[in-house]
Amino acid sequence: MTEKKEFDVLVIGGGIAGEESALNLANQGYKVILVEKDLSLGGKMIHLSKVFPTLDCAACITTPKVSETSRHPNISIYTYSEVKDINKKAEHSFSATLVEKPRFVTDACTGCQLCEEKCPVVVDDQYQYDLVGRKAIYVPFSIANPRIAAIDIDNCSLCGACEKVCAAGAIDFSMEQKESEIHVKSVIIATGYNLFDPTLIPRYGFGQFKNVITSMQMERQLVPTRPYNNVLRPKDGKVPDNIAYVLCTGSRDESVGNPICSQVCCMYSTKQAQLVMGALPMADVTLYYINIRAFGKGFEEFYQQGKGMGVEFVKGKVGKIEEKNNGDLILRYEDIESGKVMEAEHDMVVLSVGLQANADYSELFDNVKIEQDPFNYVNQVDILTSPSATSIPGVFVAGTASGPMDIPDSILSAGSASAQTAGYLKGGAK
Ligand SMILES: Cc1cc2nc3c(=O)[nH]c(=O)nc-3n(C[C@H](O)[C@H](O)[C@H](O)COP(=O)(O)OP(=O)(O)OC[C@H]3O[C@@H](n4cnc5c(N)ncnc54)[C@H](O)[C@@H]3O)c2cc1C
Repeated sequence: MTEKKEFDVLVIGGGIAGEESALNLANQGYKVILVEKDLSLGGKMIHLSKVFPTLDCAACITTPKVSETSRHPNISIYTYSEVKDINKKAEHSFSATLVEKPRFVTDACTGCQLCEEKCPVVVDDQYQYDLVGRKAIYVPFSIANPRIAAIDIDNCSLCGACEKVCAAGAIDFSMEQKESEIHVKSVIIATGYNLFDPTLIPRYGFGQFKNVITSMQMERQLVPTRPYNNVLRPKDGKVPDNIAYVLCTGSRDESVGNPICSQVCCMYSTKQAQLVMGALPMADVTLYYINIRAFGKGFEEFYQQGKGMGVEFVKGKVGKIEEKNNGDLILRYEDIESGKVMEAEHDMVVLSVGLQANADYSELFDNVKIEQDPFNYVNQVDILTSPSATSIPGVFVAGTASGPMDIPDSILSAGSASAQTAGYLKGGAK
């Protein structure tokens, strides 16, 4: 480890909150290093279809932001990289180790994807949430930034087909992990959230019944670069005509260790229901919910718009999902108004999975400890008057790393984190 790099601020996480924080500070003249563990910038937002309550195209909003971040002269971006061993040496002085993982493809890559055509290995595509396959060498997705391929070395057969076809000579199997030391004056944690894993509720059948999918898989089916040519049932490719949503899957549920509300599922399910009705005008869509939480600006109107379009809202708690031989699904649920157990048949079920803490950040620090809240999110030590402050002076939090929130609130939170960071750099706020 030889190279030393110096910046004003380290931003960890390249989702919308990390990008917004980095841009705010870079525009004020601060030098920012943005470290993203994935192959591309954009976080979860870049995988969404449209956004509630305006139904604007998610990619159209987020790609200009990604592009502005990636071109800013004051921002140095490290994708497919992580930081570790963050040490606080003094006020305004942190050191850390930057780990750059090997892609086995150099920056000479033009993103032409000829290598993908020749690669013989097919594995699940994590960017299509496993609905379809990808090759062992792959450009993550069409609007990835940077648009550079990577080799998934764990699944690569080392056949060399990619090397033979690459006109840019970008394949380099000798690449190794690189470590360097970085020095910064302040840190922003923007590591985002994890999706709830629905296999933790086996009675819903996710992973056993192919026509039970997650809301993120439905997001992918609704984007223009979707895995199939329409919204389809994964089991048999049939166009569904009676789709159910199970809200609060893994949220407000003590039994799975996540008692809190995920804040976005009521609205993203209402959004998807409207988009599904646009894609499949003959389809019936039913949302099973405990309470509809439409608390934000324009949310109640958006909910009423869904009702007006014919989306059926059933106040019911789904207990179990069973599969019939033809792949259709039987939902057993408690009708909350009558207290009766009811049954309904649907040909596809979408689990509206909740948001969970990504506790990655807690492992990053060495000589200082970052406090977690009771739900494993970054603890906001002064949530009412200084919501971005953490238990470590000079370390701030942005976006869903501090708790579930939607995109506008993540952007507001990033505004607060970057303003507080700028104040700290000037010798003010902690
Ligand atoms: C199905 C679904 C639909 C949604 N639809 C909407 C919608 O229509 N409108 C809306 O407002 N909101 C919606 N949301 C919520 C939206 O996804 C979040 O509000 C937003 O993505 C939060 O951004 P973020 O930057 O905080 O986190 P993320 O998007 O999670 O980004 C965090 C980034 O940090 C990176 N990272 C994590 N750990 C590390 C590490 N250790 N080192 C480096 N990098 C790291 C991750 O790879 C990621 O790129 C939806 C959510 C879901 C699940």
